[in-house]
Amino acid sequence: MNLILLGPPNAGKGTQAKKLYDEFEIPQISTGDILRKAVKDGTELGKIAGPLMASGAYVPDDIVIGIVEERLKQPDCANGYVLDGFPRTIPQAEALDRMLEKNGKKLDAVVSLEVPHAKLIERGSGRRSCPVDGSVYHVDQNPPKRAGYCDKCNAGLIQREDDQPEVIEKRLQKYDAETSPLKAFYAKKGILKSIDGVGSPDGIYAELLAIVSPA
Ligand code: AMP
Repeated sequence: MNLILLGPPNAGKGTQAKKLYDEFEIPQISTGDILRKAVKDGTELGKIAGPLMASGAYVPDDIVIGIVEERLKQPDCANGYVLDGFPRTIPQAEALDRMLEKNGKKLDAVVSLEVPHAKLIERGSGRRSCPVDGSVYHVDQNPPKRAGYCDKCNAGLIQREDDQPEVIEKRLQKYDAETSPLKAFYAKKGILKSIDGVGSPDGIYAELLAIVSPA
């Protein structure tokens, strides 16, 4: 199964990708996670990507396309993958088409998680992350047992720079301008499906399964 999860920041793409991994062991390819790791490790890539990510800008297409091209060559992708956060622009989608074609593969579905902006801002601004093990909480919907501290490793939780309200606004504008057009791109190919992304993660996952099961 080769799948793209499309949706604005905080739509729940990562949560759904993890559920698919737990059930089918299909790797989640998250360009955001790969870039965050590069920033944390202080690599050359991280030095370029860090300031762009912190401001809500996109990392240049050629860099992200190169990352995905390498990642998809790994053996764990042989039976499929879930792309989360890629493609984000039309040139990225066109590059993905070329990669797939070169390998005689195709996309099974592109699933767009639809969530209104107000909800996305509420989700993002309440999110708290563990800088040590990456666990994610929400101050209202998924609070840690002890306010401000990670349940698993007890580290102090932080609000990621890109979860600050003004950065979330900028990321949403960027999504509307550059990533939303991908819906028309994939609708034209007849592989776009949309799901209401507001509701319980399990309920949304059930809808996702109904779409991807045939694949
Ligand atoms: P995410 O975790 O997917 O929301 O990504 C976090 C940030 O990483 C984004 O706001 C961008 O700055 C950068 N990023 C992730 N994926 C891409 C991509 N496909 N193209 C450009 N920038 C990306």
